[in-house]
Amino acid sequence: MASLTFEHIKKTYGSQSNLTVKDFDLEVRDKELLVLVGPSGCGKSTTLRMVAGLESISEGSLYIGGQLVNDMPPKERDIAMVFQNYALYPHMTVFENMAFGLKLRKMRKKEIAERVHAAANILEIEHLLKRKPKALSGGQRQRVALGRSIVRVPKVFLMDEPLSNLDAKLRVTMRTEISKLHQRLEATIIYVTHDQTEAMTMGDRIVVMNEGDIQQVASPHDIYHYPANLFVAGFIGSPGMNFLKGVIEEQHGELFFSNPAVRLLIPKMKGKLLKEKGYAGEEMIAGVRPEHITHVTEQKKPFASSFKARVEVNENLGSELIVHVSAGDERLTVRLDSSTSLAAGDSIQLAVKMDKAVFFDADTEQAVY
Ligand code: ADP
Ligand code: MG
Repeated sequence: MASLTFEHIKKTYGSQSNLTVKDFDLEVRDKELLVLVGPSGCGKSTTLRMVAGLESISEGSLYIGGQLVNDMPPKERDIAMVFQNYALYPHMTVFENMAFGLKLRKMRKKEIAERVHAAANILEIEHLLKRKPKALSGGQRQRVALGRSIVRVPKVFLMDEPLSNLDAKLRVTMRTEISKLHQRLEATIIYVTHDQTEAMTMGDRIVVMNEGDIQQVASPHDIYHYPANLFVAGFIGSPGMNFLKGVIEEQHGELFFSNPAVRLLIPKMKGKLLKEKGYAGEEMIAGVRPEHITHVTEQKKPFASSFKARVEVNENLGSELIVHVSAGDERLTVRLDSSTSLAAGDSIQLAVKMDKAVFFDADTEQAVY
């Protein structure tokens, strides 16, 4: 196994002047499961393909296990790649499919058999070794495709949306399988997905990309609670974070986030920070997660960070209630306990847990911490 170092990697296709990958600078630790996540077209596959040697690197240096590999042919890089479209050979059995790459390498029959059985054991597909792909379910096929890559014991695994073709339930199961596989193999894995839930549940660390740029590299916890900017905040989390435009107002030594729909008291520590950074009187964007808005049922005195809203649509998910509300021109999503009883058209009082709110500079869209 090995670590990987991306040093200011850039990619342009052909004579295009725009960069598909802009300045990818990152260290992937040995035995880490690193997830690259971002919307379609942001450069995830291009980045993986440069690691595999299937695309040239336009600028920068790539090291695998300390060795510069920019000009090393794919075969010599000792990397296994698993794609979304796992093409198994239909006329071969599962065993033969898994053994194929090793045979090409002229490995001894006995060792091939040992490796295939070991991989099949890890993936729990030993009972399928004699079957042909057409006699397998989608999940079993994907397992065989994984098996084909692990028999080689490569330095690094690259996985490009390997679960995208599976149905929702199977995807959830296979996510866990890959996480377990990662632990058993103690492998370095770069895993690409456009699905933020997949990224959050699988990654040791997550790299959020947009338009060829790294937006943030952090643990799932930090990406969720301390997003670096508006893009990351909006991309991670479902239902997504609410964004409110407003002004930071100062009154009697206290700061409020204010717009025609809401007037929210900013906690002292946060207020102090915003003031120090010169945001008093300035326009900002406040980001509030749906679970950080609560329903105020008994209100004795006006609550400093509450506001009036109208229920538009309710979605009862069994475990929780997703409520879409309007307040003035604002549209917000709120996550409440499923026992809450609300109907469209209800006028309700909501409160924001302001200590959890994230403030963004209205111009740069960077979070202010
Ligand atoms: P992702 O995997 O994040 O969806 P890709 O890395 O596949 O994104 O693509 C990033 C951008 O590069 C896209 O705009 C895509 O159209 C472009 N692109 C990908 N492959 C090529 C190619 N071979 N030639 C020219 N442009 C390409
Ligand atoms: Mg892709």
